[in-house]
Amino acid sequence: MQNLTHRSKDVDRRPLSLWEKMYIPSVAKGMSITFGHMFKKVPTIRYPEETRPFSPVFRGLHVLNRDEEGRERCTACGLCAVACPAEAITMEAAERKAGEENLYREEKYAARYEINMLRCIFCGLCEEACPKDAIYLSETFAPSNYARKGFIYGKEDLLIPDPKTQASDLAAAKGQE
Ligand code: SF4
Ligand code: SF4
Repeated sequence: MQNLTHRSKDVDRRPLSLWEKMYIPSVAKGMSITFGHMFKKVPTIRYPEETRPFSPVFRGLHVLNRDEEGRERCTACGLCAVACPAEAITMEAAERKAGEENLYREEKYAARYEINMLRCIFCGLCEEACPKDAIYLSETFAPSNYARKGFIYGKEDLLIPDPKTQASDLAAAKGQE
């Protein structure tokens, strides 16, 4: 029969010698490969005790930013949600009431803000679309979870600690403690 490709090989069907029947050359060859690997540099790291440095352009978990006075920057304009190719962002806007100027920077704020990390592809378009410097992608990643619900991040998960009242939490979040 004609071969379909030039890669086929004729099978050697000659009977095995006594030496070959003992499989000693094959076992020795296999062991040499195994021992050879024992002295190579192991590429595996012992996470979470060890971590690899992130690339300078790494885009990780989202963070909702505050201004220097601790007020939420997000004005619930929806540009991030429109820019998101994965439709991972949902929000509900609310009007700022009198006396809430110390909480929200703009007259409108996000009463609810959610990102579905299972949908997110960490492209960073939400960060680029935001006119208020309110959202950015940090250098951490979403930890594993047993439930899908655990990957829906709400405002309480995304907002950075208040620099005025939670200064130590903020420093810890930035890895400065
Ligand atoms: S990083 Fe990309 S996919 Fe993820 S929420 Fe932002 S725009 Fe959507
Ligand atoms: S994070 Fe930025 S783009 Fe998204 S709703 Fe808030 S202000 Fe608008």
